[in-house]
Amino acid sequence: MAQNSSRPVGRHFLHIPGPSPLPDRVLRAMDTPIIDHRGPEFAKLAKRCLDGIKTIFKTTNPVIIYTATGTGAWEAALVNTMSPGDKVLMVETGQFATLWKKMAERIGLKPEFITTDWRQGTDPKAIEARLREDKAKEIKAVCILHNETSTGALAPIAEVRKAIDAAGHPALLMVDTISSLASADYRHDEWGVDVSVGGAQKGLMMPPGMSFNAISDKAIAANKTAKMPKSFFAWDEMLNMNKVGFFPYTPGTQMLHGLATGIEMLHEEGLDNVFARHERLAEATRRAVKAWGLENLNKNISQVSPTITAVLLPEGHDADKFRALALENFNISYGASFGQYAGKYFRIGHLGDINDGMLIGALGITEMALSLAGIPIKKGGVQAAMDYIVSAHGAGARKAAE
Ligand SMILES: *Cc1c(COP(=O)(O)O)cnc(C)c1O
Repeated sequence: MAQNSSRPVGRHFLHIPGPSPLPDRVLRAMDTPIIDHRGPEFAKLAKRCLDGIKTIFKTTNPVIIYTATGTGAWEAALVNTMSPGDKVLMVETGQFATLWKKMAERIGLKPEFITTDWRQGTDPKAIEARLREDKAKEIKAVCILHNETSTGALAPIAEVRKAIDAAGHPALLMVDTISSLASADYRHDEWGVDVSVGGAQKGLMMPPGMSFNAISDKAIAANKTAKMPKSFFAWDEMLNMNKVGFFPYTPGTQMLHGLATGIEMLHEEGLDNVFARHERLAEATRRAVKAWGLENLNKNISQVSPTITAVLLPEGHDADKFRALALENFNISYGASFGQYAGKYFRIGHLGDINDGMLIGALGITEMALSLAGIPIKKGGVQAAMDYIVSAHGAGARKAAE
């Protein structure tokens, strides 16, 4: 009989790669009376959010805030800059890249895929080579994922920018940073990104239902001539209303309360500390996986993700059954698997408001669940993760204890 057959005891271990665990402080900030979204109090709240979110994308340009999940902001990026039939170049890093490409097709663009086996991440050289071939400059945008959430690969955005420039190509650079923003370093302005797409429910520690477009001057110029139909997602009206602290339609007021608090918390911790914490948790997870004798789906060790690790199970073991067994016995949720690898791997999310102890708890559960499922592993994964975390805290911590 599973231990939680009557009532799950304690907290659920939410280790999907988003939505991530909601900090109580964000929840409390949202538990507040509804205010007039055309009144003076709202304008102050909007300003906190509109100014604050720029510091997360590292941009001095406006950032658009949508009452929609990340998928809405994907669509917004495309319809605000493109015209029907435009060619866009995308890289098949995994499931989320595939979904964005399908969206591009559905709305009447012509996406072209640089295909991969989902285990390589993003190759800037391949992008450069394709752009060099495009003598007629038919490709209007390069659309890539900073973090491919389905496989756990983090793309080198600055290198992709360099590749586009080296090819002398005018295409816009659009980057999906939904599962990396506020978890991994991201620099919209410095890296020359034209549209950055973000979401609330991953690194920003918010509930689902809010997303973002950070935009460059070049993207704003493209918006002036872009002919894709758009209304809810149109940037122009949003930019005009945001200037005076309002939105063209009713915004998600409670979500904005949560966002202002989430951004405050990130700066209290310090963005660099947030990034270092995610890298530490990710490396600890990878060491556990290696010690268990299991394989990471992503094979490109220079592009490992700080927010999610995709773990392949040995031949003959069903990852979906494993996840169900772990949920039933240990009250933990992992991310599912996709595409040609469906049923072959599971994903451990380690992003958002997660600390060392929470991760060790999740890895301990994982080691137990793997054993319970009869999956042949070596013991010692959790020990390897703990050893790494101790070493990562390092000399500073030892000195403070003296
Ligand atoms: C979660 C995610 C999306 C989809 O966002 P929704 O909020 O589910 O609409 C898109 N891209 C990436 C990389 C994601 O991780």
